[in-house]
Amino acid sequence: MTQATRSTAPSGTAVPTIKLLINGEFVESQTTQWRDVVNPATQQVLARVPLATPEELAAAVAAAKAAFRTWRKTPIGARARIFLKYQQLIRENMSEVAALLTAEQGKTLPDAEGDIFRGLEVVEHAANIGSLQMGELANNVANGVDTYTLQQPLGVCAGITPFNFPAMIPLWMFPMAIATGNTFVLKPSEQDPMSTMRLVELAVEAGIPAGVLNVVHGAEDVVNGLCDHPDIRAISFVGSTRVGTHVYNRASLAGKRVQCMMGAKNHVVVLPDAPKEQTLNALVGAGFGAAGQRCMASSVVVLVGEARAWVDEIAERAKTLKVGAGHEPGVDVGPVISCAARARIESLIATGLEDGARLVLDGRNPPVPGYDNGNFVGPTLFAGVKPGMRIYDQEIFGPVLCVVEVDTLDDAIALINANPNGNGTGLFTRSGGAARHFQEEIDVGQVGINVPIPVPVPLFSFTGSRGSKLGDLGPYGKQVVLFYTQTKTVTARWFDEDAVSTVNTTISLR
Ligand code: NAD
Repeated sequence: MTQATRSTAPSGTAVPTIKLLINGEFVESQTTQWRDVVNPATQQVLARVPLATPEELAAAVAAAKAAFRTWRKTPIGARARIFLKYQQLIRENMSEVAALLTAEQGKTLPDAEGDIFRGLEVVEHAANIGSLQMGELANNVANGVDTYTLQQPLGVCAGITPFNFPAMIPLWMFPMAIATGNTFVLKPSEQDPMSTMRLVELAVEAGIPAGVLNVVHGAEDVVNGLCDHPDIRAISFVGSTRVGTHVYNRASLAGKRVQCMMGAKNHVVVLPDAPKEQTLNALVGAGFGAAGQRCMASSVVVLVGEARAWVDEIAERAKTLKVGAGHEPGVDVGPVISCAARARIESLIATGLEDGARLVLDGRNPPVPGYDNGNFVGPTLFAGVKPGMRIYDQEIFGPVLCVVEVDTLDDAIALINANPNGNGTGLFTRSGGAARHFQEEIDVGQVGINVPIPVPVPLFSFTGSRGSKLGDLGPYGKQVVLFYTQTKTVTARWFDEDAVSTVNTTISLR
């Protein structure tokens, strides 16, 4: 049991309670509203998470505002060294955090380690932030005048995160905001906050000072409170399109900078010349891995021309995947996050049949011995899918792969560009010319060429587009440095006393 989850509840409940982090202290919420954190493979209640009160939210923001006064002036090197220490602590505690993450989220242990590792890469990048936060200088823009820019931190920033990557996505946010000199209030997903809190504890252990990082838990009311709070300057959100659109509108109206990364429907195009073995493996891994609960999951496969014949081979491979509890060895597909998510996915599968798609592989009610109560949905494959069917039009966010068949690469490009989402896409082919044509014509923010889940490393930024994103600048990398800083442009003239006296002497000698 960790500091952030150790129970001090007066009720004496055996279930640990998740703490808030306010001004450097892990504190018990005074709320009367709590929610269970549940293991999705067993329904065991692992902890209780508070829905923080307005006073607790105000205290977290006040602590962040006070800490900003000194943190913004802390030297870049001193800030960066905390993240050097932090990356080391994350590495040392990787398997413990992964076990916690699997217990509360459901994904397999290797996937949980991947979730943490992709966040760790951002922490490593934060430790080298100085070179990205440098301004620019133009010498002699007029006689004796220089113009230069300062990239200064904004103040208190806030982050609101989804359930599907409880390690990576909080780590997209607070390390970059804090390394650039801001202070932060994090609102983790209320469905699986335990692994996030363990990472927050490690951040405090690494030396993040009191008030620089704060955490409040909750759902709609707390999120609305963050959007409205006058002392918060910027909000980073990752989650569904419905909630992200609300957050964008509400926080923008309150005058904040907002970036929202939202829902997806990622299409992967397969040309008949694609390397078959690698392509089929990639499709199955990217479609069903993490039980399809990745925002960059390949949820639609577009088979072009003769590649239509590959449907049955996709199904054969999908059948070999083992469904089970994420901590069991050899499992490929863990449970989905909640009973409600499972019911929603199963009802969408039913609509696929009603709307006329061909159910090639039905993953409903898979047998998982020893885990009768788990939220399991096995790999499910539909062929003959078309726009207008609910399984195509909605983000399913489960292990359901939809196959659309088209005649040409240009038909595939037209289909994808007509879809409102623009998070990720991919093409499998041996043709460089086809790949270049696709790269040029496709209107999607992240493109994989023979790469199924093209999430950029933190040297770049996450660049979803169109309906999958609101706001101009993406998370992590160079773009987020601009998001978390204000550019101040200074135009300066310094009078050179010697030069002035020389001029004056010259004048007086005339
Ligand atoms: P969600 O939108 O339900 O929740 C996200 C956050 O919003 C949570 O912290 C939650 O507490 C809060 N929230 C929920 N309902 C709210 C409401 N009515 N008002 C205000 N706040 C509310 O998302 P989720 O189910 O946790 O995550 C899955 C979604 O996130 C999927 O749509 C997925 O595509 C998306 N996602 C996108 C990316 C990306 O980078 N584009 C990455 C990961 C996940």
